[in-house]
Amino acid sequence: MPSAKNLGKFLPLFRRFIFTMDMQVFKDPIVTFGVLTDVQYADHDDRIADYDPSKTRYYRGALEQVDVAFRFWERPGSKVKFVLQLGDIIDGLNRYHGGSHLGLQQILAHFEKHSSIPTFHTVGNHELYNFNRKELASLFYESVMKINIPQEMFCPVKPIKENYAKSSPILYYKFCPAPDLKCISLDCFDVSVLGYDSQHPKYQEAKNVLVSKHGHEVFDDWDCSGSLQGLDVRFQQMNGAVGQEQLVWLEQELKESDEIGQKVIVFGHVSLHPDSSDWSCLLWNYEEVIKTFHLHNCVIAYFSGHTHQSGYALDTHGISYIAFAGILETPPDTSAFATVSYYHDRLEVQGHGIENSYSIPLQGLKDKNAENESDDNTATDSELVHPSTIKVEV
Ligand SMILES: [Zn+2]
Repeated sequence: MPSAKNLGKFLPLFRRFIFTMDMQVFKDPIVTFGVLTDVQYADHDDRIADYDPSKTRYYRGALEQVDVAFRFWERPGSKVKFVLQLGDIIDGLNRYHGGSHLGLQQILAHFEKHSSIPTFHTVGNHELYNFNRKELASLFYESVMKINIPQEMFCPVKPIKENYAKSSPILYYKFCPAPDLKCISLDCFDVSVLGYDSQHPKYQEAKNVLVSKHGHEVFDDWDCSGSLQGLDVRFQQMNGAVGQEQLVWLEQELKESDEIGQKVIVFGHVSLHPDSSDWSCLLWNYEEVIKTFHLHNCVIAYFSGHTHQSGYALDTHGISYIAFAGILETPPDTSAFATVSYYHDRLEVQGHGIENSYSIPLQGLKDKNAENESDDNTATDSELVHPSTIKVEV
């Protein structure tokens, strides 16, 4: 203990120590994780993408692309703790040659062998071209049980097998990779014509939406924009909606995180913000989900795939919407994945290969933007600039 006489000598050292501690908080990430999407694996020859002759779909090469990403995340000194797989892990082509189960098994094995870095999956439309929801839930549950997910990452409990054995399993979930960060996986096909029996109430609900928009009941013709205009092009059978029960659950989760000062990253297959992707890749009720985010202060970002192209939007509440490039159409001489680091004051997204990089400050954005803009930022069609004129087939 320094005497009063010597205190003056120690104060500068003490201040430097406190300053160093403060800087360390901002220097070191709280958690680092990997992101990849739209692997769309199939044991199928490469072929030109129907919607864009300049693109090739590397169905078998997708396996190597996953390995390339994990080799980076597993290099010595890496701090990557887990991976988010944003959906469409296998391609719908698998169903045509009876390869759905084998295809999923083959691609999941490429994630399971990296069990020191657990992968959290979210459901995409292509999974539901191959499996119904019960089959898919069961297969994902088996995969989750094979990998080493630390108990403390679940908040509070691991997935319950009974849920996944239900005829209508709940596919949305949460986990907490750090005490002050929660990750929420949305089920973007909760209300959908994919994965349900045609008598299921949610199939009927989705069918009514599509019939009202398209004016006919031809299932295959719901998979194009047809005569739909503007933001209505999102009403296709490759997209879906977040149902009311899920919205209530989301609201409760965000309320809980607000109360304990926890930040939240939400992820799902389909885009939420019209400026982040082609409008044909938007969630049917994206406005409801964004409004739920805006009731709280905890959401910092929403991550999605589906569009196969990088996209970014920042809303008036400081929430970032990032659409990640897909793996399927990535040439073998490059790559498409991201490493994300969450700090107290920012989110750093390091894009690899064709993926973009972002540095996103987390503090003060809401206050800054709130000065000039109204709380309701659900833009109308006429207020938005279409982010892409490329037709997207996902
Ligand atoms: Zn998709």
